[in-house]
Amino acid sequence: MPDAAGHLPFFYGSISRTDAEEYLKLAGMKDGSFLLRQCLRTLGGYVLSVVYNLQFHHYPVEKQLNGTYIIVGGKPHCGPAELCEYYSKDADGLCCALRWPCNRPSGVECKPGVFDSIRDNMMREYVRQTWNLEGQSLEQAIISQAPQVEKLIATTAHEQMAWYHGNISRDEAQRKLYSGAQPDGKFLMRERKDAGSFALSVVYGKTVYHYKIDHDKSGKYSIPEGSRFDTLWQLVEYLKIKSDGIITVLKEACPNAINFSFLVAPAPPSLPKGRPNGSNGYTPEPFDGKSRILPMDTSVYESPYSDPDELRERKLFLKRDLLLIDEVELGSGNFGCVKKGVYKMKKRQIDVAIKVLKIQNGNEKTMKDDMMKEAEIMHQLDNPYIVRMIGVCEAESLMLVMEMASGGPLNKFLAVKKDLIPVSNIVELMHQVSMGMKYLEENNFVHRDLAARNVLMVNQHYAKISDFGLSKALAADNSYYTARTSGKWPLKWYAPECIKFLKFSSRSDVWSYGITMWEAFSYGQKPYRKLKGQEVLSFIERNERLPCPTNCPKEMHQLMLDCWIFKMEDRPNFENVESRMRLYYYSISNKTEEAEMTKE
Ligand code: ADP
Ligand code: MG
Repeated sequence: MPDAAGHLPFFYGSISRTDAEEYLKLAGMKDGSFLLRQCLRTLGGYVLSVVYNLQFHHYPVEKQLNGTYIIVGGKPHCGPAELCEYYSKDADGLCCALRWPCNRPSGVECKPGVFDSIRDNMMREYVRQTWNLEGQSLEQAIISQAPQVEKLIATTAHEQMAWYHGNISRDEAQRKLYSGAQPDGKFLMRERKDAGSFALSVVYGKTVYHYKIDHDKSGKYSIPEGSRFDTLWQLVEYLKIKSDGIITVLKEACPNAINFSFLVAPAPPSLPKGRPNGSNGYTPEPFDGKSRILPMDTSVYESPYSDPDELRERKLFLKRDLLLIDEVELGSGNFGCVKKGVYKMKKRQIDVAIKVLKIQNGNEKTMKDDMMKEAEIMHQLDNPYIVRMIGVCEAESLMLVMEMASGGPLNKFLAVKKDLIPVSNIVELMHQVSMGMKYLEENNFVHRDLAARNVLMVNQHYAKISDFGLSKALAADNSYYTARTSGKWPLKWYAPECIKFLKFSSRSDVWSYGITMWEAFSYGQKPYRKLKGQEVLSFIERNERLPCPTNCPKEMHQLMLDCWIFKMEDRPNFENVESRMRLYYYSISNKTEEAEMTKE
């Protein structure tokens, strides 16, 4: 997850106060010259360092529970950049207004904190462990779970540090510190007998000193009467710079061999492009950390074929038991209807949705061929945000068996639950859809029927793309598909080049994604309600577009408008759409998560 100030040229990352003062001196000590750095004590906080009258002033910028940033006593701002902008116009209590950004000299990068450098690896191990994922499914889950997981990980990151020895006794700590060389500042941290309480053991003058670490009601850690920190690793990093009441600054960690091996675990190889398959043969390294349970059901991320035995036999035509529950109809269409069923695999059985072909006189063969084409496309796809096909089955009629998404289509889901679903939830779901579409784009498939009716819900926080009835795999040397004739098409979801030139590409799917976004943020309303399908093209050509839905964030409407750029070359692709959705989702989910905490 990027730092909220990461893009600012006057942001230095995790540097000390002394270093900040050095940079300001180098820049000439002009009144109002300033820089921003990471706060070493709080999660997500900053310090603004300002020069006035040849003096340094350091103002902590706190991240509040509702996600806003303040300098104590001042007004709240939605981000560090906005805060600096505000104080550049008005001193409002600071020593002076911010006038001269002290930008990083060329060649000086933002300094990552200890956590910054291990965060990605920890997140990966955590998600892999908790949900038992691999390959591309793992990458996707890391992206979607990052905001929630990051916080959890930050508060437990000390367990992965070389200096953390877990639950060892005071005597054991002493023995470890006295073995080998005993330089001043050699240290370790351990958990004390009363769970949740910690101690720091430090060598000075060949003697070991022990300090109990206080953990106050608000969750902050400190050496008695010392500065207070959100996490134990921040406390340690700070004590490396400043002794803060203990006998010496911390220097060399007395390493715990087990934790250290984790830090150098290799990153998994990335999945070869163009060959969609959830399993890439990579065997994860064992993880030493204790596994923790997140409050959500994540078994649904897994492929029904996650069992290697099942994977080996993954055939298009199903051999095993399939039970069709005739009374439960999930939906219907031209082809027939979708019913509920149960499919028995080697070790378990799963709920499935079964698309049953309606036997009709005359066009039976074409209908069958179409369903087989749909099945062949789905057979090649494996992504957490795309409905997985289990296989096809030929009995009285041809049946396409899929994993179940019992929440039904997104448009209906949102229309019914309107009052229960906040905008942030819609952003979350549409981000998932963008991840599924990015996967299709990377693997050269065009969907051609992306719409809210074809996004199915697993639960309130989990959406999957479905209905590959019109989809095409693009030839390796072509970035679009040209239809021979126009058919029964969802014109209101189609880009102009589809209607005019029968030309379909991932960029035309992007157009449909924009319409799907509009449907979602309108809680399931129909787009262009007053227009007929054929009238939409001239509406678009008059340069008119769907308006911003009520309460839809302007950033999201702007993304829709970008998806509806007339010339396909100028539209964003899904790689771009996904990253914009992700960044926006992260920026608001921090705020809502913490706003919810304050309600309690
Ligand atoms: P069509 O090509 O007619 O649009 P769809 O594949 O979209 O067919 O399926 C029609 C309906 O059947 C959907 O709107 C949905 O209600 C239901 N349905 C389809 N697939 C599933 C599934 N995997 N899980 C649950 N319901 C499904
Ligand atoms: Mg459909």
